[in-house]
Amino acid sequence: MADCIFCRIVAGTIPSNKVYEDEIYLAFKDIHPKAPVHYLVIPKAHSERLDALARDGGAVALGELMLAAVRTAEATNLGDYRLAVNVGSGAGQLVFHTHLHLLSGWRHGAGEVG
Ligand code: 5GP
Ligand code: ZN
Repeated sequence: MADCIFCRIVAGTIPSNKVYEDEIYLAFKDIHPKAPVHYLVIPKAHSERLDALARDGGAVALGELMLAAVRTAEATNLGDYRLAVNVGSGAGQLVFHTHLHLLSGWRHGAGEVG
Protein backbone atom coordinates (compact mmCIF):
# COMPACT_ATOMS: atom_id res chain seq x y z
CA MET A 1 0.00 0.00 0.00
CA ALA A 2 1.49 3.28 -1.12
CA ASP A 3 0.44 5.29 1.93
CA CYS A 4 1.55 2.68 4.51
CA ILE A 5 4.74 3.53 6.40
CA PHE A 6 5.75 -0.09 6.90
CA CYS A 7 5.10 -1.00 3.24
CA ARG A 8 7.46 1.86 2.38
CA ILE A 9 10.04 0.45 4.76
CA VAL A 10 9.67 -2.96 3.04
CA ALA A 11 10.08 -1.26 -0.35
CA GLY A 12 13.12 0.67 0.92
CA THR A 13 11.68 4.11 0.18
CA ILE A 14 11.77 4.91 3.93
CA PRO A 15 15.04 3.90 5.62
CA SER A 16 15.11 1.51 8.58
CA ASN A 17 17.65 -0.32 10.70
CA LYS A 18 17.00 -3.93 9.73
CA VAL A 19 17.92 -6.67 12.19
CA TYR A 20 16.39 -9.73 10.48
CA GLU A 21 14.95 -10.46 7.07
CA ASP A 22 13.76 -13.42 5.07
CA GLU A 23 11.53 -13.74 2.02
CA ILE A 24 8.29 -13.11 3.90
CA TYR A 25 9.22 -11.17 7.07
CA LEU A 26 11.25 -8.17 8.11
CA ALA A 27 12.38 -6.97 11.54
CA PHE A 28 13.78 -3.50 12.19
CA LYS A 29 14.46 -1.15 15.10
CA ASP A 30 11.53 0.89 16.39
CA ILE A 31 12.15 4.59 15.80
CA HIS A 32 10.88 5.47 19.32
CA PRO A 33 12.02 2.54 21.48
CA LYS A 34 9.97 1.74 24.62
CA ALA A 35 12.64 -0.62 25.97
CA PRO A 36 16.45 -0.80 25.69
CA VAL A 37 15.91 -3.14 22.73
CA HIS A 38 12.74 -2.60 20.69
CA TYR A 39 12.26 -4.24 17.30
CA LEU A 40 9.20 -4.47 15.09
CA VAL A 41 8.56 -7.75 13.28
CA ILE A 42 6.30 -7.49 10.24
CA PRO A 43 5.05 -9.59 7.35
CA LYS A 44 6.24 -7.92 4.14
CA ALA A 45 2.76 -8.30 2.66
CA HIS A 46 0.32 -5.67 3.85
CA SER A 47 -2.44 -6.55 6.29
CA GLU A 48 -4.03 -3.99 8.56
CA ARG A 49 -4.00 -5.80 11.89
CA LEU A 50 -3.48 -9.17 13.49
CA ASP A 51 -7.08 -10.32 13.19
CA ALA A 52 -7.08 -9.51 9.46
CA LEU A 53 -3.91 -11.57 9.07
CA ALA A 54 -5.61 -14.40 10.97
CA ARG A 55 -8.71 -14.17 8.80
CA ASP A 56 -6.71 -14.26 5.56
CA GLY A 57 -3.85 -16.57 6.54
CA GLY A 58 -5.10 -18.56 9.51
CA ALA A 59 -2.89 -20.41 11.95
CA VAL A 60 -0.04 -20.70 9.44
CA ALA A 61 0.25 -16.93 9.02
CA LEU A 62 0.03 -16.31 12.76
CA GLY A 63 2.52 -19.06 13.54
CA GLU A 64 4.98 -17.92 10.91
CA LEU A 65 4.89 -14.35 12.21
CA MET A 66 5.63 -15.64 15.72
CA LEU A 67 8.40 -17.82 14.30
CA ALA A 68 9.91 -14.79 12.57
CA ALA A 69 9.95 -13.03 15.95
CA VAL A 70 11.71 -15.99 17.59
CA ARG A 71 14.24 -16.10 14.75
CA THR A 72 14.84 -12.36 15.13
CA ALA A 73 15.44 -12.83 18.86
CA GLU A 74 17.87 -15.67 18.17
CA ALA A 75 19.67 -13.85 15.35
CA THR A 76 20.23 -10.86 17.63
CA ASN A 77 21.04 -12.92 20.77
CA LEU A 78 18.30 -11.39 22.90
CA GLY A 79 18.01 -14.19 25.42
CA ASP A 80 14.89 -13.11 27.32
CA TYR A 81 12.31 -10.92 25.65
CA ARG A 82 8.67 -9.85 25.52
CA LEU A 83 6.38 -10.01 22.50
CA ALA A 84 3.42 -7.64 22.30
CA VAL A 85 0.87 -6.76 19.68
CA ASN A 86 -1.67 -3.94 19.66
CA VAL A 87 -4.83 -4.85 17.74
CA GLY A 88 -6.84 -1.73 16.91
CA SER A 89 -6.58 1.92 17.85
CA GLY A 90 -8.33 1.34 21.18
CA ALA A 91 -5.42 -0.91 22.14
CA GLY A 92 -2.83 1.62 21.01
CA GLN A 93 -2.25 0.52 17.41
CA LEU A 94 -0.95 3.53 15.47
CA VAL A 95 0.46 1.88 12.35
CA PHE A 96 -2.07 -0.24 10.48
CA HIS A 97 0.34 -2.77 9.02
CA THR A 98 0.41 -5.86 11.24
CA HIS A 99 3.45 -5.93 13.52
CA LEU A 100 4.79 -7.60 16.64
CA HIS A 101 6.75 -5.59 19.18
CA LEU A 102 9.86 -7.45 20.33
CA LEU A 103 11.16 -5.90 23.55
CA SER A 104 14.25 -6.75 25.55
CA GLY A 105 17.44 -5.51 27.17
CA TRP A 106 16.30 -4.63 30.69
CA ARG A 107 19.19 -4.91 33.13
CA HIS A 108 17.13 -6.32 35.98
CA GLY A 109 14.24 -7.90 34.11
CA ALA A 110 11.03 -6.44 32.81
CA GLY A 111 8.92 -6.96 35.94
CA GLU A 112 5.22 -7.68 35.79
CA VAL A 113 3.27 -7.39 32.55
CA GLY A 114 0.84 -4.50 32.62
P1 5GP B 1 1.72 0.50 17.35
O1 5GP B 1 1.38 1.60 18.32
O2 5GP B 1 1.01 0.68 16.02
O3 5GP B 1 1.54 -0.87 17.91
O4 5GP B 1 3.28 0.62 17.07
C1 5GP B 1 3.81 1.35 16.00
C2 5GP B 1 5.28 1.51 16.27
O5 5GP B 1 5.90 1.94 15.07
C3 5GP B 1 5.60 2.57 17.33
O6 5GP B 1 6.33 1.94 18.39
C4 5GP B 1 6.43 3.60 16.58
O7 5GP B 1 7.50 4.12 17.36
C5 5GP B 1 6.94 2.83 15.37
N1 5GP B 1 7.14 3.63 14.19
C6 5GP B 1 6.28 4.53 13.63
N2 5GP B 1 6.78 5.05 12.51
C7 5GP B 1 8.00 4.46 12.33
C8 5GP B 1 9.01 4.60 11.32
O8 5GP B 1 8.90 5.36 10.35
N3 5GP B 1 10.12 3.84 11.47
C9 5GP B 1 10.29 2.98 12.51
N4 5GP B 1 11.42 2.27 12.56
N5 5GP B 1 9.35 2.82 13.48
C10 5GP B 1 8.22 3.56 13.39
ZN1 ZN C 1 1.58 -1.87 4.79
